[in-house]
Amino acid sequence: MMSDDRVVNALSFDIEDWFHMVEIPAVADPARWDDLPSLVVEQTRWIVEAIGAASTRATFFILGWVADRHPHLAKMIAAAGHEVATHSYWHRKVYELTPESFRDDLKRSIDVLSDQTGRRIRGFRAPSFSITPGTEWAFDVMHDLGIEYDASLFPASRGHGGYPCAPGPHSFTAAPSGRAMPELPMSVMRLGPAGLCFSGGGYLRLLPLWAIRRGFAQFNAAGRPVVIYLHPRDFAPDCPRVPMPLTRRFKCYVGLRSTRGKLEALLRSYRFDACESVLGLDGAATAGAVA
Ligand SMILES: [Zn+2]
Repeated sequence: MMSDDRVVNALSFDIEDWFHMVEIPAVADPARWDDLPSLVVEQTRWIVEAIGAASTRATFFILGWVADRHPHLAKMIAAAGHEVATHSYWHRKVYELTPESFRDDLKRSIDVLSDQTGRRIRGFRAPSFSITPGTEWAFDVMHDLGIEYDASLFPASRGHGGYPCAPGPHSFTAAPSGRAMPELPMSVMRLGPAGLCFSGGGYLRLLPLWAIRRGFAQFNAAGRPVVIYLHPRDFAPDCPRVPMPLTRRFKCYVGLRSTRGKLEALLRSYRFDACESVLGLDGAATAGAVA
């Protein structure tokens, strides 16, 4: 299938370990994380090599906790020319936090990532797309901490979030202070009256490549970028198994072996860049380097 090469799509990775999956009681306690086997460094290294081979830039939304445990990871990603952004520190859902605890968590993640890379951290993606109606205050916290764009909104209802909004990049203006924030929402394709996510996580692993291409065609025909989001664990066929309900297990583990091939096929077919570039924030990126 021919691609529409006028549109530059957004390539992003949420850098967390397999045990940061939400609502898996067996691994929910952060006190246990240090003792669990880790796959984040090995799989992230593969991701960086694969997208480097395709001469593509991407955004890595890194969990502050992961950056602290693996102090060379963010630096390696930045040195390869990619954008380092934050995925929070503890991977807590925003709608379960207060503005104060969200601020503490976000600031801690920004501090560790900017210290390690020497760059200003401009982008944020909430764990599990957990900015929901009623948590618009999160945007004011982001403004106060110097965040320049958000990639947390998921314009369809889902298990852990969902926020009704425009389907493509837009300006989020519903913060209590009224300050506007560039927003890059997750891609949800229209399928009759329903919406279907096709370009990230379990959805990308579950769907056949032709269905994913259909989503790209729909978005790019409207001049709209697709946002890809994947995790290191999405590429790990040997991802540790933990007890969880059967439906959840299916969504977590199916398709792990084919994800690499799908990503490589998409990299060959479509144009991609980092989120900051897709949002047109490039100019300030250079100026944003911490002296
Ligand atoms: Zn996450």
